[in-house]
Amino acid sequence: MAKALFLDRDGIINIDHGYVHKIDDFEFVGGIFELCQLAAAKGYDIFVITNQAGIARGLYAVADFETLTSWMLAQFKKQGIDIQEVFYCPHHPTKGVNEFKMSCQCRKPAPGMILKAQEKYNIDLGLSIFIGDKPSDMQAAEAAGISSRILVASRYLEEEIKNDSENASNNGAGKQDLTKQSKVIKVNNVLGAIEIIKAL
Ligand SMILES: [Mg+2]
Ligand SMILES: [Zn+2]
Repeated sequence: MAKALFLDRDGIINIDHGYVHKIDDFEFVGGIFELCQLAAAKGYDIFVITNQAGIARGLYAVADFETLTSWMLAQFKKQGIDIQEVFYCPHHPTKGVNEFKMSCQCRKPAPGMILKAQEKYNIDLGLSIFIGDKPSDMQAAEAAGISSRILVASRYLEEEIKNDSENASNNGAGKQDLTKQSKVIKVNNVLGAIEIIKAL
């Protein structure tokens, strides 16, 4: 069975300027190539797991996303890195202007994209890693059964954790989720994630 490194895209591979969909706006995060080279050397197959609700919102089309993805994969290739596959969710449950406005099983925090990868590539999720920058990344990873969950600090964290705390005070389920989140490994940036992977 294969082991995998799953990467969120916005905020992990590229700087999150919000709904990035053009090559000109795509800036690689410092250290991401080194991280992938290290993971590949350690035998991890690399996947991207990304919510792309900008498609449901009508900000860009599937074709735009695919063009950017092809370019991104070519940049990885130039660094000697093979990304096995990019899984994306084009949906949004409430904010949409087209056929992608729908609830789905793939939008993180749901684990659908990870489970699809697992099935297609026969991945041992217990040996796999997920790196993301939002609590929803960590929730998806945990729901899928990924044991190594690395949360990179981002501008989203404070806001989402605050919301989770508010939910937690309203019901026990929320409180339980928040406790689970404390098991994730928190790092300040991608360079911090490299140190964690070195130690695995
Ligand atoms: Mg992100
Ligand atoms: Zn979806």
